[in-house]
Amino acid sequence: MTTSLIRAEQIVTLDAADTIHGPGYLIVADDRLVEIGTHFTPGQWRIDHEIDLGARLVMPGLVNAHTHTPMTLFRGHAEGRTLFTLEGWFNTIRVLEQVLTPDLIPAGVAVSCAEMIRTGTTCFADQYFWMDRIVPEVRRSGLRAALAYGIVELGEAAARERELAAATTFLESLRGDPLIKGWVGPHAFFVDNSEAAMRLELELAKRFDTGFHIHMGTSGEEDRFCWEHYGRSAIPQLEALGMLERPVLAAHCITMPVEDFPILARHPFTAVLAPSSAMRNAAGVAPLRALHAAGVNTALGTDNVTNNNSYDLFKEMQIAGKLFSLHERTPNAIPTRKILEMATLGGARALGLEDEIGSLEVGKKADLIALDLNEIGWSPRGGQDVYAALVYSITGQHVRDVMVDGRWLFRDNAWITLDFAQARRDLEAAHAELTRRL
Ligand SMILES: [Zn+2]
Repeated sequence: MTTSLIRAEQIVTLDAADTIHGPGYLIVADDRLVEIGTHFTPGQWRIDHEIDLGARLVMPGLVNAHTHTPMTLFRGHAEGRTLFTLEGWFNTIRVLEQVLTPDLIPAGVAVSCAEMIRTGTTCFADQYFWMDRIVPEVRRSGLRAALAYGIVELGEAAARERELAAATTFLESLRGDPLIKGWVGPHAFFVDNSEAAMRLELELAKRFDTGFHIHMGTSGEEDRFCWEHYGRSAIPQLEALGMLERPVLAAHCITMPVEDFPILARHPFTAVLAPSSAMRNAAGVAPLRALHAAGVNTALGTDNVTNNNSYDLFKEMQIAGKLFSLHERTPNAIPTRKILEMATLGGARALGLEDEIGSLEVGKKADLIALDLNEIGWSPRGGQDVYAALVYSITGQHVRDVMVDGRWLFRDNAWITLDFAQARRDLEAAHAELTRRL
C-alpha cells in the first residue's frame, strides 16, 4: 500500500455536515481517503509521500453527468441552430455524422477528456456511437466514466438488431473495468427508439446491471407521441413498460409534466440539467424547483460542446444559479450548496456511485481537485461564503491539481496522463479531414 499525506490551506469536503478544514490535510492510501482533518499528527499511517499544496482549496472532483465526447469535432458547427428538435438535430448533427468515420473519433475524445480534467471534472457520463474508439482514450486519460452505447433505431428492425448486438459486445468488454462502467444509451425513448427497441434495451440493462442514459423532455416530442399512441404522457408509459426500474440518466427534462414528477421520485431517476445547452438552443428552462420539491435527484452536465461550447462545469454551476434566479425572480432561487451538490453528489448518485465519490469522506475514493487560492476572484476571503465563491466567483481555470482513484491526472498545472498539445494537433487534423469531406 502507498500512502500520501496532502496538506492544503482549505479542504471543502461537501459532506452531509458541511465540514470545512482550514488548514486541512487528507491521507490517501492507494485509491481511497483514509483520514481527513485539520492538524495532522503522526499516528496510524506510515506516510510514503508528503505533498503540501499550500494556497489551494481541495474539494471533491466534479461529475459531468451528460456529455458526447466525440462531438468536440463539431464545435462551432451548429451556431445559430437548435439541436433540441428531431428536425434540427437531423439537419445539423446528422449531416456531420454522415461523413464522420470511426478513425476521427479518438481525436475528439482526447481533447474532451483533457478539457474536463483541466476544469476539475473527475467523472463523466457520456453517450455516443463508436464506443470501441472512445473507451481507449478515456482509459488513457485516467478519468472515471459511465459510457453509454448510443442507439438510434427509428423503428427499423435491421438497425435494432445491429445496434443491440453491438451494445451487448460493448457491455461485455467493460465487465470488471475499475473506472469505466458501461451503460445503455438510447438517444431518446419513443422519439428515435421504438417500444420494440426499448423492451430489448431493458433486458440488456437488467442483464448487465446497468441503466439508461437518454435525452428526455427537450421539446415534448415523446409526450406528444405517447398521448397519441397510449393515451397518456411519456413518464407513466415508461413506468408501465418497466423502464424506470433501472437507473435513468435523463438529459434536459425541460418539457416534462410536473404532475408526473412523483413517479420519477419513486424510481432511480436523475434529471440532468444542461442549462448552457438549453439556453443556447433556445429550448426553455427545466422546472428545477418542482423537481427538487418532488424529491427527484438532479445533476448537471455540459452536454456536447458543439454549441455549449465549454466543458467547464464551474461555469455551468454559475449559469444554472443565475438562470434559475432570473427565471424564478428570486435571488439565490437554487442555493449555492444545492448547485454544488448537483455537480458532485447528485451526479455520483445518478451513476450509483454515491458511496464512492461526490464528497471527500473517509472510505470514499480519492477523486479530488485543488484550486489556486492566489488566483483572481477569492478576495476578500473574509467576505465571501466559500460555496458562493465556488459557484459565482471563480471558473475551472482555477484548477491546478486533479486526482482520480488516488492517481494524479493533472499536477501543479501540468498534464500527467494526457499530452494536450498533441491532442489539439490531432483534433485539428481530424477536423480538417471532416470539413474536407463536407
Ligand atoms: Zn445530449
